[in-house]
Amino acid sequence: MATSTKTKTQKGSINVTTENIFPIIKKFLYSDHEIFLRELVSNAVDATQKRKTISKSGEVDAFKNENPQVHVTLDKEAKTITISDNGIGMTAVEIDKYINQIAFSGATEFLDKYKDDDAKQAIIGHFGLGFYSSFMVAERVDIISKSAKKGAKAVKWSCDGSPDYTIDPANKKEAGTDIILHIAEDSVEFLEDERLGGILNKYCKFMPVEIVFGTRTVEEEDPSGEKDEKGKAKKISVEVPRILNNTDPVWMKKPADLTEEDYSGFYRELYPMNMEDPLFNIHLNVDFPFNLTGVLYFPPLKKTMELQKNKIHLYSNQVFITDNVENIVPDFLTMLHGVIDSPDIPLNVSRSYLQEDANVKKISGYISKKVADKLASMFKNDRESFEKRWDDLRIFVEYGILTDEKFSERSKKFYLYKDTDGKCMTHDELIAAVGESQKDKSGKVILPYTSDASAQHTFVKEATDRAYKVLVMEGPLAAHVVGKLEQTHTDVQFKRVDSEIIENLIEKDEETTSILDEKQQEVLKPIVQSAFPESGYDLKFAAMSPTSAPFIITRSEWMRRMKEQQAVGGGGFQMFGEMPEKYDVTINSNHPLATKLLKEKNKKVRSTTVREAADLARLSQGILKGEELAAFIERGFKNLQ
Ligand code: ADP
Repeated sequence: MATSTKTKTQKGSINVTTENIFPIIKKFLYSDHEIFLRELVSNAVDATQKRKTISKSGEVDAFKNENPQVHVTLDKEAKTITISDNGIGMTAVEIDKYINQIAFSGATEFLDKYKDDDAKQAIIGHFGLGFYSSFMVAERVDIISKSAKKGAKAVKWSCDGSPDYTIDPANKKEAGTDIILHIAEDSVEFLEDERLGGILNKYCKFMPVEIVFGTRTVEEEDPSGEKDEKGKAKKISVEVPRILNNTDPVWMKKPADLTEEDYSGFYRELYPMNMEDPLFNIHLNVDFPFNLTGVLYFPPLKKTMELQKNKIHLYSNQVFITDNVENIVPDFLTMLHGVIDSPDIPLNVSRSYLQEDANVKKISGYISKKVADKLASMFKNDRESFEKRWDDLRIFVEYGILTDEKFSERSKKFYLYKDTDGKCMTHDELIAAVGESQKDKSGKVILPYTSDASAQHTFVKEATDRAYKVLVMEGPLAAHVVGKLEQTHTDVQFKRVDSEIIENLIEKDEETTSILDEKQQEVLKPIVQSAFPESGYDLKFAAMSPTSAPFIITRSEWMRRMKEQQAVGGGGFQMFGEMPEKYDVTINSNHPLATKLLKEKNKKVRSTTVREAADLARLSQGILKGEELAAFIERGFKNLQ
């Protein structure tokens, strides 16, 4: 289309099928207009890098004293934003080829592909629109470029958003390109320093070439040589260009060249608002069969799964793409912080396609393995400090165990149980310690656990008095986790301490003798039943120690687990949530109260006694509430009078 006449304005028409494609571009990426800046600045960065590479062959002029640099400038009055680079530049022929034909075909292709796609917002970072994304915010775009090729002449291309453009000779001394955006009325927000600076900071913070935006003030020695009152050289404030990026971020360096300070400094650079230091980090570095670099940090998670404020940032060759890494890293790893940089993650596909992508699958598997390896090596090399951090790591590891089969397998090396004394044990260590003593009559090793040692104190004490190890399994995932651990280790069974009376927690083949015979039990049963609410309490007898409580309320392990799993979202358990609470009441037939109730002829005294005992049992389980609790307390105070 471009002719070879250099003195006259050339006109051309971009070969468009649509009447005017630019309004469509504009509408299409409505919510993400700001990416124009990323596209233009990364083109400028590429141009300086190309110049550096190609100049080695002598084909184009090399950089002399100047650094490769990109300048972003704002002119509020003229309503322009200019992106200038001192890169390879373009000749008129190249502009025709790269801008009129290639860039444009890129834009049309992009639109064709996603025209009807409702999930268009899900296309990662909207990559692929390139230069033409400038028309999302500009009503006219000028390119003034001078190729770094020897003897090249400067040219100016101009296009007002219609398919027509012009090419003119231009005045430009140095090689490079200025992209001048004449900002449209509806996009004047981008003419604010803060807005523009914010976007640059978001997308360009770690680009590999210096990006200059505005100035900053520095103190310098007065060149006049004047001294201050203390005799020191006088300082003056001067404005110098502000370089906003770190061109050599930690993740691009070799781990061997880095110190712990470098890693923690980088963490603060990434998340300036975050106060807490991460627990440790992992440096990712692969170049085969895919390219991936990055640094991941473990935040201290405590027991809550707080909503992530500091997300993992995804980069492609040091260009920020998104902080939504869903479907790129395994779900549980989205709890981590840090950076992943990979040119092998496809950026112009929608999220739902990502998971199916072979590279993404490999990358995700690799990251999961690296994380497991890191945890295993920390555990092996410094168990003491690993144990200290375990409370912070645990929920993360458990989430991984539940959702990532390979991670679950690898975690066997470092997953720790903690007992009520605070002692940490791996599965093998635990089995070695309790394997024989906690085996029940069927040969299963029973692992009693508590989800709240203080609320379940009586049950915990009874179990520890019998020298059972009681494990602490807290948090919202506990029910899921014990279920999963039972699948992994088929020789064990978890039972919460309050799921059975202590005699039945680990069932052995032991005969116990009951003071009450069956007939007496039959008489006693309705008396006791009358003291418990009508439904939801199933009564049974057990010959326990006379010093144990007279009535013990327990909740079936199975039923409770199903309900808990359903509460934190575990598919398929819906029906359990609907079911009413069910408790088992065990009457200790060897407790003196049992005999006393049978002997008591005064009905009133008998019903008061059984009621007090029943309420005490329910109180100790935290199920005596509201009015019933108030009445119970009132009676207690009355008795003191
Ligand atoms: P992409 O960058 O994906 O190739 P673009 O539409 O952004 O697509 O740009 C098309 C082409 O225009 C680039 O490949 C490059 O050759 C050329 N180009 C764009 N910006 C510049 C620039 N600042 N300096 C030199 N060449 C450029």
